[in-house]
Amino acid sequence: MAEVVERFAPSPNGALHLGHAFSALTAFDATRKAEGRFLVRIEDLDQTRARADHEAAIFEDLGWLGLEWQQPVLRQSERFSAYHEALDSLDKRGLIYPCFCSRRDIEAALSAPQEGDANAGDEGQGPDGPAYPGNCRRMSGVDRGLKHSAKAPFGLRLDMRKAVATLGGAGVVSNLSFKEIGAGPNKERGKIKLDPGFLIQACGDVLMARKDAPASYHLAVVLDDAHQGVTHVTRGEDLFAATQIHRLLQALFGRPTPIYRHHRLIRDEQGRRLAKRDRDAGLAELRACGTAPAEVRAMVGL
Ligand code: GLU
Repeated sequence: MAEVVERFAPSPNGALHLGHAFSALTAFDATRKAEGRFLVRIEDLDQTRARADHEAAIFEDLGWLGLEWQQPVLRQSERFSAYHEALDSLDKRGLIYPCFCSRRDIEAALSAPQEGDANAGDEGQGPDGPAYPGNCRRMSGVDRGLKHSAKAPFGLRLDMRKAVATLGGAGVVSNLSFKEIGAGPNKERGKIKLDPGFLIQACGDVLMARKDAPASYHLAVVLDDAHQGVTHVTRGEDLFAATQIHRLLQALFGRPTPIYRHHRLIRDEQGRRLAKRDRDAGLAELRACGTAPAEVRAMVGL
């Protein structure tokens, strides 16, 4: 059997809380059991929010929990040329286009649906919110040229319809799948097939690069998991729907598909999912109050 490789991939823009501990411990325990390898990957794509002190605190918290991980640790900031190459290949295949829209432009287009794609916003939410209404996809070459010569900042979006067509159309894409050994938010488990309707209507033209970052989370996570030979991805069920996008990207790039283990979210007493601002559930705070790592395991139900 192939070696099991798992990763925990925190963003160094805040402190870790019990939810992170649950994810990291679950992945770590699985590698221990399978005599595999456990990696920590620092997802510092967003250089405006990444901070060295947060990164140092993450390592401290994980070490305190008793985790051991392989060295050297990979940082996404070391991978910008790989992201660039991948974007270039999507560009050569005509699958991405520049998007100059601000958040406000998108909100305005969504509230005036006649200006956007016929059904934009009607098909429920994708993992990144309502589908992009398509303004910049329909932009003329001349307007695009003018924006570029004015040095207008832009992101890059995947033309989802074209991406599905490139792979052979909806029929072929609906036969792509991934294996779920945890559970999605509605207890989805086992062989999960892709849903081209969900990809096109609800996810839509997702970002592949952002105005302020050389890759989007979706692009980077797919390339990095493949680059590091990750065989199993353990993460919260809030990312279950995004896995549809990741599986599609794996097909577009010819990268292997890991096995996914999405897990329940750790919630506070009011039933809200934990956020980085929830100090009482912070690992550093728990440690400072004298909580033992074994108690953390019990608190998250391990
Ligand atoms: N950096 C992402 C997060 O913290 C990782 C998600 C994933 O494991 O794919 O949510």
